Amino acid sequence: MHELAVTEYVFNLVKKQADAAGVSHVDKIHLLLGDQCDYVPEIIEEYLQVMSEGTSLEGVKVDATVKESMVKCLDCGSEFTRHEFKDVCPKCGSENLKLNRCTDFIVKNIEVS
Ligand SMILES: [Zn+2]
Repeated sequence: MHELAVTEYVFNLVKKQADAAGVSHVDKIHLLLGDQCDYVPEIIEEYLQVMSEGTSLEGVKVDATVKESMVKCLDCGSEFTRHEFKDVCPKCGSENLKLNRCTDFIVKNIEVS
């Protein structure tokens, strides 16, 4: 499970920030995920539950926002989301398209108490 490595990354990052800010408990972590990044937020949350036992992150929740990949038409230059992608450009009908795979993985912010 490749979520384990990314969860360790998130945990260490958030814990460092929380410790530096002197917060007593981290309630929620907001993540921004590209739709091609291939991580399952629920699995990240499960790993975090285990990892965070006895720390200021104990019982932390994960809230994930998915960012869609964009497709660019190489003929007319229009951009649209992958969601609308039907193998042809919706503007000019060209099949000359480039998918910009969105693999972002960003810790957007954290909620503390
Ligand atoms: Zn086009």
